[in-house]
Amino acid sequence: MTRSRIRRLFPEFLLSGRGRGRAGDPSLITLVHVTMESSDLYPVTRLAAAREATAAAGLDALLLTPGPDLRYVTGYEALPLERLTCLVLPVEGDAFLAVPRLELPAAEHSPASRLGIEFVPWDETDDPYAAVAARLGSVARVGLADRMWAMQSLRFREAMPGAEQVLAGTVLRHLRMRKSPAEMEALRRAGAAIDAVHARVPGFLRAGRTEREVGRDIAEAIIEAGHATVDFVIVASGPNGASPHHELSDRVIGAGEPVVIDIGGQMPGGYCSDSTRTYCVGEPPAAFAKYYEVLQRAQQAACDAVRPGVPCEAVDAAAREVIASEGYGEYFIHRTGHGIGLETHEEPYIVAGNAEPLAAGHAFSVEPGIYLPGSHGARIEDILICTEEGGERVNHRPRELAVV
Ligand code: ZN
Ligand code: ZN
Ligand code: ZN
Repeated sequence: MTRSRIRRLFPEFLLSGRGRGRAGDPSLITLVHVTMESSDLYPVTRLAAAREATAAAGLDALLLTPGPDLRYVTGYEALPLERLTCLVLPVEGDAFLAVPRLELPAAEHSPASRLGIEFVPWDETDDPYAAVAARLGSVARVGLADRMWAMQSLRFREAMPGAEQVLAGTVLRHLRMRKSPAEMEALRRAGAAIDAVHARVPGFLRAGRTEREVGRDIAEAIIEAGHATVDFVIVASGPNGASPHHELSDRVIGAGEPVVIDIGGQMPGGYCSDSTRTYCVGEPPAAFAKYYEVLQRAQQAACDAVRPGVPCEAVDAAAREVIASEGYGEYFIHRTGHGIGLETHEEPYIVAGNAEPLAAGHAFSVEPGIYLPGSHGARIEDILICTEEGGERVNHRPRELAVV
C-alpha cells in the first residue's frame, strides 16, 4: 500500500516529524530525536562515498531530487514538490543544493546543513534547471534519483541536451544495500516497534468486527509504537487472505476465519518496518492448518539459507522447494522477499533470476505465502539482516498460527 493510499484511509495518522516542524509546532522531542540519529544514520562521509561511487561508475554527476536517494546521501527529508530541490553532486567541483527560496529555511534546519555544501536558492521566476545546468558545466553522463519525477527528468534533458541520463540507483545501490551498524540498529528498532503492534493484534481481532475497524486500531498502534508514519495496513480475512495485497474492506470477520495481517511504517529516522503474521479467529479450517504448517517450514528454510555469498535466488528457492514439494507450488504466487531500508521495497529482491550474492549488511524480508483463491491464504514475514554468521531476524513474534 502506498503512503498516499494510507493518507486517504487514515488521514489522522500521518504525523511525520517533517509535517509537525513545518506547521510551526516544533515538537522538541522529535527534533532532538532526529538530530541525535542523523549523525549516525546519515554520516557526513556519505557525500564523499557517493561521489567516489559516481566516479567509479563513469558518471560526471548525480542529480538527487527529494526521495530516498537524497535522504540517504544528505539526511534531508525534503518535500517532493513541483518546485525543484536538487542535490548536485559532480565528480569534479563542489556539490551544491539547488533549493526554492521558500524552502531554504527548512533545508538549513535539515541534516544537509552539516555537509558544508552551498545552498543555492532560486526565485519563483528563475529557471532552476537552466541554473543547475549552467553551474554544472558540460557533462556527458548524469545519474538521476530513481524516484525523480518524469516532469523533472525531462526538464533536465532539455537543459542538458548533450548529457546521457541514467539512474542514480546504478551508483547508489551498492551503498544503500550494505547497511551500516547504525542503519542495522534502526532496522532492529523498527522491527521491535512493529512486533509491539503485532503483540496487540489479538486484542483487536474478533468475529463481528470489520477489517477496517481492526485496521484503524492497528494504524493507531503503529504510531503509538513509535513510528512517524503508517505506511500500510493489510487486514485480509477469509477469502480476502488469498489476495496478497488486499488492504482493508468493510467485510465482517467471521468465526473460524484466518486473517492475514501485514503492517509497516516508517520510523522518525527514516527506516521502515514490515511484518506479517497470520491469525485465526477461533479454530482454523483443517485444510488451512495443513498448509500453514508447510508455510512455517518454508519460511524457516529460507531464513536458514541466508548467509554471505548465497545468491538472492537461492533464498527464494529454499522457501519455494518446501512449498512445491507439498503440492502448493502454484499457490505461492510472489517472490520470497524484498530489500528494506529507507524504502519498504528496495534492493536486493529475493526472487528467482536474481544472482546477486548476499553480503553482510543486506536487509530484506522473507515472506513466503500460500493463497487458495476463494478460500483463504497465509503469509509469514520477518525482516532479516545478513550477518557473517547468517540471517538475523529483527522480528521475533511467534510464527505458529495465532488462534485468537
Ligand atoms: Zn508486499
Ligand atoms: Zn514485505
Ligand atoms: Zn509486508
